[in-house]
Amino acid sequence: MKNVKISIKDLEKNKEIYSDFGEMLFTHFGVSGPTILSSSAHLIRYKEIARKLDENKIKLVIDFKPALSLEELDKRVLRDFEEFKNKDFRNSLEKLLPQKLIPVIVDLSEINPYKKVNEISKEERKRLVELLKNFEVILKGFRPIEEAIITAGGVSIKEINPKTMESKRIKGLYFAGEIIDVDAYTGGFNLQIAYSTGFVAGNS
Ligand SMILES: Cc1cc2nc3c(=O)[nH]c(=O)nc-3n(C[C@H](O)[C@H](O)[C@H](O)COP(=O)(O)OP(=O)(O)OC[C@H]3O[C@@H](n4cnc5c(N)ncnc54)[C@H](O)[C@@H]3O)c2cc1C
Repeated sequence: MKNVKISIKDLEKNKEIYSDFGEMLFTHFGVSGPTILSSSAHLIRYKEIARKLDENKIKLVIDFKPALSLEELDKRVLRDFEEFKNKDFRNSLEKLLPQKLIPVIVDLSEINPYKKVNEISKEERKRLVELLKNFEVILKGFRPIEEAIITAGGVSIKEINPKTMESKRIKGLYFAGEIIDVDAYTGGFNLQIAYSTGFVAGNS
């Protein structure tokens, strides 16, 4: 999905932990993609995250149409419904959503997939619009460390001389890359950290 808004909420505290805009993926195990990977950098440090995930208290909310308000999206759906008024509901969303997402949305909307579009009630349409703006997924956990892309944690930067990358504690020991307690969003920053610190450590 492109140009979606994600927001992650702590249901226990009724608080938003993270929000982002961009790309995400539905996978066979759940969700992934750039915005989701960035969110995990925040979640991993969030207080009592393991317990909260276990207890179904962390919710992901996806807004598939963040550029439109509820009212604007409703108008947009109405326009599509007008165009496809004699089609079955299940065949009326192709302008709005990627093909693979349509059966999921149709199912969750609880509107009869074979209902003719011109028979869909205002309440049903509202439910559909609400679903597109607030698609909810309860997060159950992280993927295993073997699949991790970046590691949070490592040797504290307070213990490293940034001019040389030498340890302040042990002379002649130099650090570079992932072993250092720095991590950044996906998008090349971590490679940059590895190259730059590696260059400095190597030259020193
Ligand atoms: C799937 C994936 C996608 C990624 N995508 C991005 C991205 O898009 N953008 C981004 O910025 N970062 C990305 N990263 C992260 C980035 O690749 C790492 O941050 C970076 O490569 C770290 O470099 P490094 O040299 O510190 O460690 P590494 O690249 O892990 O190098 C460590 C090396 O040490 C070797 N080694 C380990 N133990 C020993 C030993 N005992 N003796 C000898 N050698 C040993 C390992 O075999 C390895 O070759 C991605 C990582 C993964 C896994």
